[in-house]
Amino acid sequence: MAEMVALYVHVPFCHVRCRFCNLHAYGMGDYATLPDLRAAYTEALAAEIARWGERLPGATARTVFFGGGTPTELDAAQLAHVLAAARAAFVVPDEAEVTVEAYPGLGYPYLAALRAAGVSRVSFGVQSFEPRLLTMLDRAHDVAQVAASVAAAHDLGFSVALDLIYGLPTQTLAEWEATLGQALALAPDHLSLYALSLEEATRLRALVKAGVLPAPDADLAADMYRHAQARLAEAGLGQYELSNWARPGHECRHNQVYWRNESWLGIGAGAYGSYDGARYENIPSPTRYVELVRQGGLPIAEVEPIGKATAMAETVILGLRLRGGIDLDEFARRFGRRLEDVYAAPLAELITWGLVEVVGGRLRLTGRALLVANEALLRFLPEAASVIN
Ligand code: SF4
Repeated sequence: MAEMVALYVHVPFCHVRCRFCNLHAYGMGDYATLPDLRAAYTEALAAEIARWGERLPGATARTVFFGGGTPTELDAAQLAHVLAAARAAFVVPDEAEVTVEAYPGLGYPYLAALRAAGVSRVSFGVQSFEPRLLTMLDRAHDVAQVAASVAAAHDLGFSVALDLIYGLPTQTLAEWEATLGQALALAPDHLSLYALSLEEATRLRALVKAGVLPAPDADLAADMYRHAQARLAEAGLGQYELSNWARPGHECRHNQVYWRNESWLGIGAGAYGSYDGARYENIPSPTRYVELVRQGGLPIAEVEPIGKATAMAETVILGLRLRGGIDLDEFARRFGRRLEDVYAAPLAELITWGLVEVVGGRLRLTGRALLVANEALLRFLPEAASVIN
C-alpha cells in the first residue's frame, strides 16, 4: 500500500511580532535588507518538498498544512507554487485537507487565489474581538477586517476556522462572553480556544513580571473555559479536543495526525517532523535554510530517535486530548503491548479518581477531567510505565 504522509509547511515570517507569541517566527522588519527572501524561501520550500517526494515515491499526502509564523506573508501565488510542488512530489487527492493559517484582513482576491489553487481550509488568528485586548496583544488587525475576511472565505467555500485566546491579563468574563458571541455570529466551522500561557522571552511576560500588567487569573480562565464549553455546545459546535470545537465534518484532520502521534513531514525553516521512528528539526534561520536547500540535500539540523517508551507515553498523552480518546486495540497493535498493562498503576488511580474512563474499547478523559487534564496526562510520562521494553 502506498505510504500516507501529512505535510506541515512552515512560513516563519510575521508582519509584526505579537506580544504573547514565542513561536518560531521573525518580524518582516528583521529582513528589510533582504527583499527577495520570500521568493528564495518559496523556491526552497518547493525544492525540499521535491526531495521528500524522491525519498517516498508514490506516497499520498492526505493533508497539507501551511503554518507559521504567518503563511499569508507570502503572496497567494507563492503559496500556490509550494502547493503545486506538493502535488508534483506526492499524490494529493481531491479530498485532501489543505489548510492555510491566515492573518485576518486578507482581501477577496487573495482568498480567491488560494481557493483556486486548491486550498480547502483557512484558519484566521483572530485572538479577540475586544479592541483594547487586540491593542494589548499588539495585533495589527481590527474587528471589521475579521468580519470581511470571514465573509469572503465563506463565500468562496472554505472551511473556516478561528483562533481565540482567553485568560488574558485584565480580560473580564463579560468581554470573553462578548468575544465568543461575535465569533459565533460569523458562523465559523471550527474554533480553537487557547488559554494564555506566559511564555519565556515574550514581551507580555516581561510586562507582567514588571508589574505593568496583572498576572492572568487561573480561576477566571477556568470559568471562561467552562462558559465556552456550554456556549459552543448550544451553538452546535462539538468539542473534539481539549482546545478545539467544530461543526460535524470540520474537525481538523491535520492536527489529528499530531494528537494520534502519527508521522508527519515538517517542511521549512525551523519545522519539526516525525518520521520513521525519529523526530527531526530543520535549521531555524530562514537564510541558512535557503542556503542549505540550494546546496542539495535536506536542511535537517537535529534528529532524535524516539524510543518505544516515549512513543507509548506520547501516544497516551496526546490521544487523551481527543474527546474520542485512544483505541485500546489499536494501541496494542501498534506497540505489541496493551496500554492497560503498561500503565496499570496510573490507570487504576485515574479511574478511581473519576478522571478517565473506558467507553466502547477507548480510553478517554471524563468530562470533569478536562479542567485538570494536564495533571492527569502527566501521569503517563515514560517513567510512569510499570514495564518498558
Ligand atoms: S501570534 Fe502569529 S502573527 Fe503573531 S507573532 Fe506569533 S506567529 Fe506571528
